[in-house]
Amino acid sequence: MLNNLNREIYNIGDIIFKEGDEGDGAYLIEEGMIEISVMNNGQALQVNKIGKGELFGEVALIDHQPRTATAKAIENTVLIAIQRSLVNELLEKTDPIVRHLLLVILDRYRNKRGNAQYSSISHQSSDIANKRNSIRGEATYKLTMVNDISRALNNDEFELHYQPICALTSNNVAGYEALIRWRHPTQGLVSPLDFLWVAEQTGQIREVGLWTLERACRDWPILRKTTNFDLPFVSVNMSPSQLTGESFVEEVKSIISRNGMPPTELKLELTENVIINNPEVALQLLMQLTELGSTLAIDDFGTGHSSLETLDRYPIGTLKIDRYFTSSMLASAQSGEIVNSSIQLAHSLGMDVVAEGIETEEVRRKLLELGCNFGQGWLFGRPAELKNIPR
Ligand code: C2E
Ligand code: CA
Ligand code: CA
Repeated sequence: MLNNLNREIYNIGDIIFKEGDEGDGAYLIEEGMIEISVMNNGQALQVNKIGKGELFGEVALIDHQPRTATAKAIENTVLIAIQRSLVNELLEKTDPIVRHLLLVILDRYRNKRGNAQYSSISHQSSDIANKRNSIRGEATYKLTMVNDISRALNNDEFELHYQPICALTSNNVAGYEALIRWRHPTQGLVSPLDFLWVAEQTGQIREVGLWTLERACRDWPILRKTTNFDLPFVSVNMSPSQLTGESFVEEVKSIISRNGMPPTELKLELTENVIINNPEVALQLLMQLTELGSTLAIDDFGTGHSSLETLDRYPIGTLKIDRYFTSSMLASAQSGEIVNSSIQLAHSLGMDVVAEGIETEEVRRKLLELGCNFGQGWLFGRPAELKNIPR
Protein backbone atom coordinates (compact mmCIF):
# COMPACT_ATOMS: atom_id res chain seq x y z
CA MET A 1 0.00 0.00 0.00
CA LEU A 2 1.14 3.50 -0.72
CA ASN A 3 0.88 5.02 2.72
CA ASN A 4 2.54 8.15 4.08
CA LEU A 5 2.29 10.10 0.83
CA ASN A 6 3.44 13.70 1.03
CA ARG A 7 1.31 16.57 -0.18
CA GLU A 8 3.04 19.55 -1.75
CA ILE A 9 1.42 22.93 -2.29
CA TYR A 10 2.36 25.28 -5.16
CA ASN A 11 1.14 28.79 -6.01
CA ILE A 12 0.46 30.08 -9.52
CA GLY A 13 3.75 30.37 -11.39
CA ASP A 14 5.75 28.04 -9.13
CA ILE A 15 8.07 25.62 -10.89
CA ILE A 16 7.63 22.03 -9.71
CA PHE A 17 10.60 20.70 -11.60
CA LYS A 18 12.77 21.91 -14.49
CA GLU A 19 13.91 20.17 -17.64
CA GLY A 20 17.33 18.64 -16.85
CA ASP A 21 16.67 18.32 -13.09
CA GLU A 22 17.33 14.98 -11.55
CA GLY A 23 13.93 13.31 -11.15
CA ASP A 24 13.09 11.24 -8.13
CA GLY A 25 9.42 10.51 -8.56
CA ALA A 26 5.99 11.34 -9.96
CA TYR A 27 3.15 13.61 -8.93
CA LEU A 28 -0.59 13.17 -8.83
CA ILE A 29 -2.64 16.36 -9.11
CA GLU A 30 -5.11 16.61 -6.26
CA GLU A 31 -6.19 20.18 -6.96
CA GLY A 32 -5.17 22.78 -9.54
CA MET A 33 -3.60 22.85 -12.98
CA ILE A 34 -0.10 22.17 -14.34
CA GLU A 35 1.61 23.26 -17.50
CA ILE A 36 4.24 20.98 -19.02
CA SER A 37 6.74 22.63 -21.35
CA VAL A 38 9.99 21.84 -23.14
CA MET A 39 12.77 24.17 -24.27
CA ASN A 40 13.03 24.57 -28.02
CA ASN A 41 15.70 26.86 -29.49
CA GLY A 42 15.87 28.76 -26.22
CA GLN A 43 12.09 29.17 -25.99
CA ALA A 44 9.68 27.36 -23.65
CA LEU A 45 7.16 25.44 -25.70
CA GLN A 46 3.97 24.41 -23.90
CA VAL A 47 3.26 20.74 -24.61
CA ASN A 48 0.41 19.99 -22.25
CA LYS A 49 -1.93 21.32 -19.61
CA ILE A 50 -3.19 18.84 -17.09
CA GLY A 51 -5.51 18.99 -14.10
CA LYS A 52 -7.05 17.16 -11.18
CA GLY A 53 -6.51 13.39 -11.08
CA GLU A 54 -3.75 13.37 -13.69
CA LEU A 55 -0.24 12.02 -13.21
CA PHE A 56 3.03 13.53 -14.42
CA GLY A 57 6.75 12.87 -14.04
CA GLU A 58 6.01 9.14 -13.99
CA VAL A 59 9.04 8.04 -16.01
CA ALA A 60 11.25 9.15 -13.10
CA LEU A 61 9.61 6.44 -10.99
CA ILE A 62 11.77 3.90 -12.73
CA ASP A 63 14.41 5.75 -14.72
CA HIS A 64 17.41 7.56 -13.35
CA GLN A 65 17.35 10.05 -16.21
CA PRO A 66 17.09 13.86 -16.03
CA ARG A 67 13.61 15.35 -16.41
CA THR A 68 12.75 15.86 -20.08
CA ALA A 69 10.27 18.69 -19.47
CA THR A 70 9.46 21.49 -17.05
CA ALA A 71 6.33 21.40 -14.88
CA LYS A 72 4.83 24.68 -13.63
CA ALA A 73 1.73 25.38 -11.56
CA ILE A 74 -0.69 27.60 -13.47
CA GLU A 75 -3.25 27.58 -10.67
CA ASN A 76 -2.85 27.17 -6.94
CA THR A 77 -2.09 23.51 -6.87
CA VAL A 78 -1.93 20.59 -4.44
CA LEU A 79 0.16 17.60 -5.50
CA ILE A 80 0.67 14.18 -4.03
CA ALA A 81 4.32 13.23 -4.39
CA ILE A 82 5.08 9.59 -5.15
CA GLN A 83 8.74 8.89 -4.44
CA ARG A 84 10.70 6.48 -6.60
CA SER A 85 12.16 4.82 -3.51
CA LEU A 86 8.68 4.06 -2.21
CA VAL A 87 7.55 2.54 -5.50
CA ASN A 88 10.75 0.53 -5.79
CA GLU A 89 10.21 -0.87 -2.35
CA LEU A 90 6.69 -1.95 -3.30
CA LEU A 91 7.85 -3.38 -6.62
CA GLU A 92 10.44 -5.51 -4.83
CA LYS A 93 7.60 -7.20 -2.97
CA THR A 94 5.37 -7.55 -6.00
CA ASP A 95 4.73 -10.71 -7.92
CA PRO A 96 7.64 -11.19 -10.38
CA ILE A 97 5.23 -11.60 -13.29
CA VAL A 98 3.66 -8.22 -12.55
CA ARG A 99 7.11 -6.63 -12.22
CA HIS A 100 8.17 -8.13 -15.50
CA LEU A 101 5.00 -6.88 -17.23
CA LEU A 102 5.51 -3.37 -15.87
CA LEU A 103 9.08 -3.25 -17.10
CA VAL A 104 8.11 -4.49 -20.56
CA ILE A 105 5.31 -1.90 -20.77
CA LEU A 106 7.73 0.81 -19.70
CA ASP A 107 10.23 -0.20 -22.38
CA ARG A 108 7.56 -0.15 -25.08
CA TYR A 109 6.47 3.29 -23.88
CA ARG A 110 10.00 4.60 -24.10
CA ASN A 111 10.58 3.15 -27.55
CA LYS A 112 7.31 4.59 -28.81
CA ARG A 113 8.36 8.03 -27.68
CA GLY A 114 11.48 7.45 -29.78
CA ASN A 115 13.42 9.69 -27.46
CA ALA A 116 17.14 9.10 -27.58
CA GLN A 117 17.37 9.77 -23.87
CA TYR A 118 15.24 6.72 -23.12
CA SER A 119 17.60 3.91 -23.84
CA SER A 120 16.32 0.41 -24.38
CA ILE A 121 17.37 -2.42 -22.10
CA SER A 122 20.46 -3.29 -24.11
CA HIS A 123 21.92 0.20 -23.59
CA GLN A 124 21.34 0.42 -19.90
CA SER A 125 24.08 0.12 -17.35
CA SER A 126 24.98 -3.49 -16.72
CA ASP A 127 23.62 -3.25 -13.17
CA ILE A 128 20.13 -2.37 -14.31
CA ALA A 129 20.30 -4.80 -17.23
CA ASN A 130 21.31 -7.59 -14.84
CA LYS A 131 18.50 -6.76 -12.51
CA ARG A 132 16.07 -6.79 -15.43
CA ASN A 133 17.35 -10.14 -16.59
CA SER A 134 16.95 -11.58 -13.16
CA ILE A 135 13.37 -10.29 -12.89
CA ARG A 136 12.63 -11.74 -16.31
CA GLY A 137 14.20 -15.04 -15.25
CA GLU A 138 12.18 -15.09 -12.06
CA ALA A 139 8.97 -14.38 -13.98
CA THR A 140 9.68 -17.15 -16.49
CA TYR A 141 10.56 -19.56 -13.69
CA LYS A 142 7.36 -18.71 -11.93
CA LEU A 143 5.23 -19.14 -15.06
CA THR A 144 6.57 -22.65 -15.61
CA MET A 145 6.33 -23.45 -11.93
CA VAL A 146 2.65 -22.55 -11.72
CA ASN A 147 1.75 -25.22 -14.27
CA ASP A 148 4.23 -27.66 -12.83
CA ILE A 149 2.80 -27.36 -9.32
CA SER A 150 -0.75 -28.01 -10.54
CA ARG A 151 0.48 -31.07 -12.37
CA ALA A 152 2.44 -32.20 -9.32
CA LEU A 153 -0.72 -32.04 -7.22
CA ASN A 154 -2.70 -34.03 -9.79
CA ASN A 155 0.06 -36.61 -10.32
CA ASP A 156 0.90 -37.02 -6.66
CA GLU A 157 4.52 -35.87 -7.09
CA PHE A 158 4.88 -34.37 -3.60
CA GLU A 159 6.30 -36.36 -0.71
CA LEU A 160 6.59 -35.82 2.99
CA HIS A 161 9.83 -36.55 4.77
CA TYR A 162 9.87 -36.76 8.53
CA GLN A 163 12.55 -35.47 10.87
CA PRO A 164 12.60 -36.59 14.52
CA ILE A 165 12.19 -34.15 17.39
CA CYS A 166 13.77 -35.64 20.51
CA ALA A 167 13.39 -35.11 24.23
CA LEU A 168 16.79 -33.77 25.26
CA THR A 169 16.97 -35.57 28.59
CA SER A 170 16.45 -39.07 27.16
CA ASN A 171 17.13 -38.63 23.42
CA ASN A 172 13.83 -40.45 22.86
CA VAL A 173 11.84 -39.50 19.78
CA ALA A 174 8.93 -37.36 20.97
CA GLY A 175 7.54 -36.47 17.57
CA TYR A 176 8.32 -35.63 13.98
CA GLU A 177 8.24 -32.58 11.76
CA ALA A 178 6.73 -33.20 8.32
CA LEU A 179 8.79 -31.55 5.56
CA ILE A 180 7.58 -31.46 1.99
CA ARG A 181 9.68 -32.43 -1.04
CA TRP A 182 8.83 -32.59 -4.70
CA ARG A 183 9.82 -35.71 -6.62
CA HIS A 184 10.06 -33.85 -9.92
CA PRO A 185 9.96 -36.02 -13.07
CA THR A 186 13.04 -34.34 -14.58
CA GLN A 187 14.70 -32.39 -11.76
CA GLY A 188 14.83 -35.06 -9.08
CA LEU A 189 14.04 -34.21 -5.48
CA VAL A 190 13.23 -30.48 -5.29
CA SER A 191 13.63 -28.55 -2.02
CA PRO A 192 10.62 -26.76 -0.55
CA LEU A 193 12.66 -23.56 -0.65
CA ASP A 194 12.59 -23.73 -4.46
CA PHE A 195 8.84 -24.03 -4.99
CA LEU A 196 6.91 -22.96 -1.91
CA TRP A 197 7.46 -19.25 -2.59
CA VAL A 198 5.76 -19.66 -5.98
CA ALA A 199 2.87 -21.59 -4.44
CA GLU A 200 2.56 -18.83 -1.83
CA GLN A 201 2.34 -16.10 -4.44
CA THR A 202 -0.18 -17.92 -6.63
CA GLY A 203 -2.36 -19.14 -3.79
CA GLN A 204 -1.62 -22.78 -4.71
CA ILE A 205 -0.16 -23.08 -1.21
CA ARG A 206 -3.68 -23.66 0.12
CA GLU A 207 -4.01 -26.86 -1.85
CA VAL A 208 -0.40 -27.88 -1.15
CA GLY A 209 -0.96 -27.17 2.56
CA LEU A 210 -4.08 -29.31 2.72
CA TRP A 211 -2.29 -32.09 0.88
CA THR A 212 0.52 -31.95 3.46
CA LEU A 213 -1.86 -32.05 6.38
CA GLU A 214 -3.83 -34.94 4.90
CA ARG A 215 -0.67 -36.96 4.21
CA ALA A 216 0.79 -36.32 7.66
CA CYS A 217 -2.46 -37.43 9.32
CA ARG A 218 -2.63 -40.50 7.09
CA ASP A 219 0.98 -41.48 7.90
CA TRP A 220 0.68 -40.77 11.61
CA PRO A 221 -0.52 -44.20 12.85
CA ILE A 222 2.64 -45.79 11.38
CA LEU A 223 4.96 -42.97 12.39
CA ARG A 224 3.53 -42.85 15.90
CA LYS A 225 4.78 -46.38 16.55
CA THR A 226 8.37 -45.17 16.22
CA THR A 227 7.99 -42.55 18.97
CA ASN A 228 8.74 -43.09 22.61
CA PHE A 229 7.04 -40.33 24.55
CA ASP A 230 3.85 -39.94 26.55
CA LEU A 231 2.49 -37.14 24.35
CA PRO A 232 3.76 -37.92 20.84
CA PHE A 233 3.09 -35.43 18.05
CA VAL A 234 3.51 -34.71 14.38
CA SER A 235 4.32 -31.12 13.45
CA VAL A 236 3.02 -29.66 10.19
CA ASN A 237 4.19 -26.34 8.73
CA MET A 238 1.63 -23.74 7.79
CA SER A 239 2.15 -20.86 5.40
CA PRO A 240 0.87 -17.36 6.12
CA SER A 241 -1.61 -17.43 3.24
CA GLN A 242 -3.25 -20.60 4.51
CA LEU A 243 -4.38 -18.72 7.58
CA THR A 244 -6.28 -16.10 5.60
CA GLY A 245 -8.73 -18.58 4.07
CA GLU A 246 -12.17 -18.48 5.70
CA SER A 247 -12.63 -22.20 5.32
CA PHE A 248 -9.25 -23.20 6.70
CA VAL A 249 -10.42 -24.31 10.15
CA GLU A 250 -13.30 -26.33 8.64
CA GLU A 251 -10.89 -28.03 6.26
CA VAL A 252 -8.48 -28.90 9.06
CA LYS A 253 -11.39 -30.28 11.04
CA SER A 254 -12.54 -32.51 8.23
CA ILE A 255 -9.01 -33.81 7.49
CA ILE A 256 -8.52 -34.66 11.15
CA SER A 257 -11.80 -36.53 11.45
CA ARG A 258 -11.48 -38.27 8.07
CA ASN A 259 -8.12 -39.72 9.14
CA GLY A 260 -9.04 -40.48 12.74
CA MET A 261 -6.22 -38.17 13.85
CA PRO A 262 -6.23 -37.37 17.58
CA PRO A 263 -6.15 -33.52 17.39
CA THR A 264 -3.97 -33.32 20.50
CA GLU A 265 -1.23 -35.15 18.59
CA LEU A 266 -1.18 -32.60 15.79
CA LYS A 267 1.05 -29.57 16.14
CA LEU A 268 0.85 -26.70 13.66
CA GLU A 269 3.98 -24.66 13.02
CA LEU A 270 3.80 -21.05 11.92
CA THR A 271 6.27 -18.19 11.90
CA GLU A 272 5.94 -15.07 14.02
CA ASN A 273 5.37 -13.00 10.86
CA VAL A 274 2.03 -14.70 10.31
CA ILE A 275 0.87 -13.15 13.55
CA ILE A 276 2.58 -9.80 13.19
CA ASN A 277 1.19 -9.14 9.72
CA ASN A 278 -2.37 -9.99 10.63
CA PRO A 279 -2.74 -9.92 14.41
CA GLU A 280 -6.53 -9.99 14.82
CA VAL A 281 -7.37 -12.48 12.08
CA ALA A 282 -4.54 -14.69 13.27
CA LEU A 283 -5.78 -14.60 16.85
CA GLN A 284 -9.29 -15.67 15.83
CA LEU A 285 -8.13 -18.49 13.59
CA LEU A 286 -5.50 -19.74 16.00
CA MET A 287 -8.04 -19.81 18.81
CA GLN A 288 -10.36 -21.88 16.64
CA LEU A 289 -7.53 -24.28 15.80
CA THR A 290 -6.55 -24.78 19.41
CA GLU A 291 -10.20 -25.30 20.35
CA LEU A 292 -10.03 -28.42 18.17
CA GLY A 293 -7.36 -29.64 20.59
CA SER A 294 -4.27 -29.09 18.44
CA THR A 295 -1.30 -27.08 19.63
CA LEU A 296 0.68 -24.35 17.94
CA ALA A 297 4.40 -23.88 17.58
CA ILE A 298 6.21 -20.69 16.64
CA ASP A 299 8.79 -21.61 14.02
CA ASP A 300 12.16 -19.92 13.38
CA PHE A 301 11.85 -17.92 16.58
CA GLY A 302 14.27 -15.02 16.78
CA THR A 303 14.35 -14.25 13.06
CA GLY A 304 11.22 -12.07 13.03
CA HIS A 305 10.41 -8.89 14.85
CA SER A 306 8.17 -10.12 17.61
CA SER A 307 8.87 -10.46 21.26
CA LEU A 308 7.69 -13.33 23.36
CA GLU A 309 5.57 -10.94 25.41
CA THR A 310 3.52 -9.97 22.33
CA LEU A 311 3.17 -13.61 21.38
CA ASP A 312 1.78 -14.37 24.81
CA ARG A 313 -1.68 -13.21 23.64
CA TYR A 314 -1.76 -16.15 21.27
CA PRO A 315 -2.38 -19.78 22.22
CA ILE A 316 1.18 -20.96 21.60
CA GLY A 317 2.37 -24.17 23.20
CA THR A 318 5.85 -24.51 21.69
CA LEU A 319 8.67 -22.23 20.71
CA LYS A 320 11.15 -23.39 18.09
CA ILE A 321 14.47 -21.57 18.30
CA ASP A 322 15.83 -20.93 14.85
CA ARG A 323 18.77 -22.97 13.61
CA TYR A 324 20.84 -19.81 13.16
CA PHE A 325 21.03 -19.23 16.92
CA THR A 326 21.50 -22.88 17.86
CA SER A 327 24.32 -23.40 15.42
CA SER A 328 26.18 -20.27 16.50
CA MET A 329 25.49 -20.40 20.23
CA LEU A 330 28.84 -21.87 21.21
CA ALA A 331 30.84 -19.43 19.11
CA SER A 332 28.83 -16.28 19.70
CA ALA A 333 28.01 -14.95 23.16
CA GLN A 334 25.12 -12.99 21.69
CA SER A 335 23.49 -16.07 20.12
CA GLY A 336 24.08 -17.94 23.38
CA GLU A 337 22.31 -15.21 25.30
CA ILE A 338 19.37 -15.18 22.85
CA VAL A 339 19.00 -18.95 23.17
CA ASN A 340 19.24 -18.79 26.95
CA SER A 341 16.75 -15.97 27.40
CA SER A 342 14.29 -17.48 24.90
CA ILE A 343 14.31 -20.75 26.84
CA GLN A 344 13.81 -19.04 30.20
CA LEU A 345 11.07 -16.73 28.99
CA ALA A 346 9.24 -19.47 27.06
CA HIS A 347 9.24 -21.69 30.12
CA SER A 348 8.00 -18.87 32.32
CA LEU A 349 5.08 -18.53 29.88
CA GLY A 350 4.43 -22.26 30.07
CA MET A 351 5.71 -23.08 26.57
CA ASP A 352 7.88 -26.02 25.50
CA VAL A 353 11.08 -25.23 23.64
CA VAL A 354 12.52 -27.04 20.62
CA ALA A 355 16.02 -26.03 19.52
CA GLU A 356 16.37 -26.52 15.76
CA GLY A 357 19.52 -27.44 13.86
CA ILE A 358 21.42 -29.39 16.54
CA GLU A 359 24.35 -30.92 14.71
CA THR A 360 26.80 -31.71 17.50
CA GLU A 361 26.86 -33.37 20.88
CA GLU A 362 28.41 -30.23 22.45
CA VAL A 363 25.45 -28.12 21.37
CA ARG A 364 23.00 -30.74 22.66
CA ARG A 365 24.76 -30.81 26.03
CA LYS A 366 24.78 -27.03 26.32
CA LEU A 367 21.07 -26.84 25.49
CA LEU A 368 20.27 -29.48 28.05
CA GLU A 369 22.21 -27.45 30.61
CA LEU A 370 20.12 -24.40 29.72
CA GLY A 371 16.94 -26.38 30.36
CA CYS A 372 15.76 -26.76 26.76
CA ASN A 373 13.22 -29.63 26.49
CA PHE A 374 13.43 -30.75 22.88
CA GLY A 375 15.92 -30.81 20.05
CA GLN A 376 15.82 -31.34 16.31
CA GLY A 377 18.73 -31.60 13.93
CA TRP A 378 21.14 -33.83 12.11
CA LEU A 379 22.54 -35.14 15.39
CA PHE A 380 19.23 -36.94 15.94
CA GLY A 381 18.35 -37.62 12.33
CA ARG A 382 17.85 -36.05 8.94
CA PRO A 383 14.42 -35.86 7.34
CA ALA A 384 13.58 -39.25 5.81
CA GLU A 385 10.79 -40.96 3.92
CA LEU A 386 8.35 -42.91 6.05
CA LYS A 387 9.62 -46.22 4.71
CA ASN A 388 13.18 -45.37 5.82
CA ILE A 389 12.36 -44.45 9.39
CA PRO A 390 13.76 -47.08 11.74
CA ARG A 391 11.10 -49.00 13.63
P1 C2E B 1 11.76 -25.20 8.72
O1 C2E B 1 10.33 -25.33 9.07
O2 C2E B 1 12.58 -24.31 9.57
O3 C2E B 1 12.33 -26.67 8.70
C1 C2E B 1 13.60 -27.02 9.16
C2 C2E B 1 14.60 -27.05 8.03
O4 C2E B 1 15.90 -27.21 8.56
C3 C2E B 1 14.37 -28.24 7.11
O5 C2E B 1 14.75 -27.82 5.80
C4 C2E B 1 15.36 -29.26 7.64
O6 C2E B 1 15.75 -30.23 6.70
C5 C2E B 1 16.50 -28.37 8.04
N1 C2E B 1 17.31 -28.94 9.12
C6 C2E B 1 16.90 -29.70 10.15
N2 C2E B 1 17.90 -30.02 10.96
C7 C2E B 1 19.01 -29.44 10.45
C8 C2E B 1 20.40 -29.39 10.85
O7 C2E B 1 20.80 -29.95 11.88
N3 C2E B 1 21.23 -28.68 10.09
C9 C2E B 1 20.83 -28.06 8.96
N4 C2E B 1 21.71 -27.40 8.24
N5 C2E B 1 19.54 -28.08 8.54
C10 C2E B 1 18.64 -28.76 9.28
P2 C2E B 1 13.82 -28.15 4.54
O8 C2E B 1 13.21 -29.48 4.66
O9 C2E B 1 14.62 -27.84 3.32
O10 C2E B 1 12.65 -27.10 4.65
C11 C2E B 1 12.89 -25.75 4.47
C12 C2E B 1 11.69 -24.94 4.85
O11 C2E B 1 10.60 -25.14 3.96
C13 C2E B 1 11.13 -25.29 6.22
O12 C2E B 1 11.91 -24.69 7.21
C14 C2E B 1 9.73 -24.73 6.12
O13 C2E B 1 9.73 -23.34 6.35
C15 C2E B 1 9.39 -24.96 4.66
N6 C2E B 1 8.55 -26.17 4.55
C16 C2E B 1 8.93 -27.45 4.46
N7 C2E B 1 7.85 -28.26 4.34
C17 C2E B 1 6.76 -27.46 4.37
C18 C2E B 1 5.35 -27.67 4.27
O14 C2E B 1 4.84 -28.80 4.18
N8 C2E B 1 4.54 -26.57 4.32
C19 C2E B 1 5.05 -25.31 4.45
N9 C2E B 1 4.20 -24.29 4.49
N10 C2E B 1 6.36 -25.07 4.55
C20 C2E B 1 7.21 -26.13 4.52
CA1 CA C 1 9.07 -25.81 10.70
CA1 CA D 1 12.29 -23.73 11.64
